[in-house]
Amino acid sequence: MQLLKERIKHEGIIKTDDVLKVDSFLNHQVDTALIDAIGAEFARLFSGRPINKVLTIEASGIAIAYAAARHLNVPIVFAKKAQSINLEGDVYTTRVESFTHRRIFDVIISKKYVSGDDHVLIIDDFLANGCALNGLIEMTEEAGATIEGIGIVIEKGFQQGGRTLRERGYRLESLAIIESMDPATGQIVYRS
Ligand code: 5GP
Repeated sequence: MQLLKERIKHEGIIKTDDVLKVDSFLNHQVDTALIDAIGAEFARLFSGRPINKVLTIEASGIAIAYAAARHLNVPIVFAKKAQSINLEGDVYTTRVESFTHRRIFDVIISKKYVSGDDHVLIIDDFLANGCALNGLIEMTEEAGATIEGIGIVIEKGFQQGGRTLRERGYRLESLAIIESMDPATGQIVYRS
């Protein structure tokens, strides 16, 4: 997605070898027109699939998932990061290691909102090693729901998550795949 790639090039800040900050339009301030265009692009890419729900994880995934779901005309469900495993009622639960915070979160989804009848599109902002997506996949599969696809805004192609998920057979669409990025020069190279 050209518009997105240009925004990353102009506004992205390469903090370290493997952390990119895009706080000006995605992760802190949110550019609503851009996010809407991203949502439309996901809806177009997955238009042939019988999706009835978009699933993401709080917090940064929510705006993107909302935009995709609005274009698909379906609800979103976001997995919640629980402070402690205080299981109220019937929930699916897993543990996710946060790439940016380097800590482990318990993550939950209520059984009320994902079930065996659902056909789910999973959305997230970044894909690095795939821990967040693996957690979402695990809970979705435990629910017996069908994963129709996975949509990512920025995949860091030099980390293993994308390759592993494609090898496992999931339909993964990333709107920008970064092949390399250099904190010293600020240069970003995309996979074409
Ligand atoms: P993974 O679980 O695939 O290792 O990492 C993905 C999650 O970590 C995403 O939900 C995202 O919030 C966060 N993340 C991973 N890499 C980056 C990055 O370079 N920049 C930002 N802002 N978030 C990242």
